[in-house]
Amino acid sequence: MSKDDRQDLSGWSVERLHDDHAQALREDAVLYDSETDHQRLRVIENPTFGRVLTLDGVVQTTEGDNFIYHEMLSHVPILAHGSARRVLIIGGGDGGMAREVLKHASVEHVTMVEIDPGVVEFSKQYLPNLSQGAFDDPRLRLVIADGAAYVRRTEDRFDVIIIDSTDPVGPGEVLFTDSFYGHAKRCLTPAGILVTQNGVPFLQGAELTNTMRAFKALFADWGCYLATIPTYAGGPMALGWGTDGAARKITLPQLTERFAAADIATEYYTPEVHLASFALPGYVRRLMP
Ligand code: SAM
Repeated sequence: MSKDDRQDLSGWSVERLHDDHAQALREDAVLYDSETDHQRLRVIENPTFGRVLTLDGVVQTTEGDNFIYHEMLSHVPILAHGSARRVLIIGGGDGGMAREVLKHASVEHVTMVEIDPGVVEFSKQYLPNLSQGAFDDPRLRLVIADGAAYVRRTEDRFDVIIIDSTDPVGPGEVLFTDSFYGHAKRCLTPAGILVTQNGVPFLQGAELTNTMRAFKALFADWGCYLATIPTYAGGPMALGWGTDGAARKITLPQLTERFAAADIATEYYTPEVHLASFALPGYVRRLMP
């Protein structure tokens, strides 16, 4: 390797989620670095992305680009559903997903099941721009528990369930199993929609195929849609979609009307982007079971 290849990466946060691909973010400051009961939690300051939260060295969310992921995993199912009153978020400890879901005045109740209270307490203090007061919204009920155990035991039903988890390593692993998806489906109302964080298919193709195989067995309408988040390295991220309802039959005029009526500010989501996000390129389509 030439000298240039052996760059000094001290002062950089290096993510090694994948065996042969890494990403590095310059650390202008390390604002926090500690182990919780479940994972190593760090926040760094980066000139481009602002504050960056990593769990076990993997980027979870950044002040700079979180809007893309949180808008697409919340507004797509809620606006497609059309009358979502009760929403369940599994994970989401930084509060960004709750922030976007609670923008919908039509949503009456949000249950958020987060395994690590350290992420919530920490994010309130170090990443207030993520939650923007969501944790104080009276519609939000925070449950500290394993999401897999919660869906097995709850008798509550939800119109939209959002799996905003870490990757399938560590505590997040149970949230990528057939058993979990089956129990999550049980918690949906008849036309309810389940959406999932399903990794970057160019680097995590098997993860998407596994989830889609489970969704194919569980739902009348299953598939995924795409959004590109710069700090989820490797190209577009796949967001899993499963429902027995007809939400995907919505037309652009209907969606445009719903979006206008919702009267919410977005930086990435538009009705056109919503519908276009379900158009899959060949390499992703070939990962479908
Ligand atoms: N946007 C990120 C992504 O796409 O990877 C996810 C962000 S959010 C911080 C992920 C959350 O999932 C973390 O707070 C983590 O503690 C939580 N989590 C992981 N496993 C969990 C489980 N089994 N039950 C509930 N929450 C879990």
